[in-house]
Amino acid sequence: APIIEASQLGKTYRTGKLEVQALKNASFSINRGEFVAIVGPSGSGKSTLFYILGGLTSPTAGSLRIQGQDFSRLSDAERTKLRRAHIGFVFQRFNLLPTISAYDNIELAHQIADTGKPFDKALLTELSGLLGLEGRLQHRPNELSGGQQQRVAIARALITRPAIVLADEPTGNLDTENSIAVLEMLRKASREFNQTVLMITHNPEAAQIADRIITMRDGQVTGIEAARGSL
Ligand code: ADP
Ligand code: ADP
Repeated sequence: APIIEASQLGKTYRTGKLEVQALKNASFSINRGEFVAIVGPSGSGKSTLFYILGGLTSPTAGSLRIQGQDFSRLSDAERTKLRRAHIGFVFQRFNLLPTISAYDNIELAHQIADTGKPFDKALLTELSGLLGLEGRLQHRPNELSGGQQQRVAIARALITRPAIVLADEPTGNLDTENSIAVLEMLRKASREFNQTVLMITHNPEAAQIADRIITMRDGQVTGIEAARGSL
């Protein structure tokens, strides 16, 4: 069975008398271990879809099944629990806590996920090597370059071995070299760790590293196509 099944998903924002249909009739399935890029112009509904898939907001129409569970039937508390245990997030602005070290940022993510398993130091060593972060983890975010901060954010997202990794414009603030490092790591998470990766991007070249590309326009999914699987 697919790990994510979206059926006729919709989201209408209401502010006073104003109604915005940010997402309409979005239907697709994503398999375990698949890497899917979501592309589309600004305002096309990418973030809305991302927040729904991440359990951060509820759809106003349609249904969403994640790992066979009907997301819309869960209470807020259950949804939060599922999100913390199974989904890793990466954002454009890194979102690291500024007052603690990179290492502590990663360990805190493990604590919050509340998986009941001990902190996986061997995995952190592996991720740190893959991401070129050796010798950088004792530094606070402001002592790291933007590229290093995003690589720390990737390690933080992967440390709990989440089944699903959601990345919102993860290379939006990065130079080419760091963008490639981040994209290659997400590719590896999918291909070698069998994690399901969904990545929003503005960059059509970056999207090609995925297995498939979902294209959005005016709140609708207008295409789902195979991608190259490499840069
Ligand atoms: P994208 O991520 O592709 O730029 P969004 O999902 O952010 O698109 O936005 C889709 C549409 O929904 C836009 O018209 C946007 O203005 C609107 N929208 C997004 N969030 C809200 C919100 N919280 N309240 C009202 N309208 C919103
Ligand atoms: P990268 O692109 O590999 O992330 P940069 O080329 O930006 O790194 O930086 C080269 C070196 O300078 C790195 O070792 C990095 O730690 C250091 N550096 C970059 N920005 C800062 C900063 N704001 N404060 C301290 N050190 C930094």
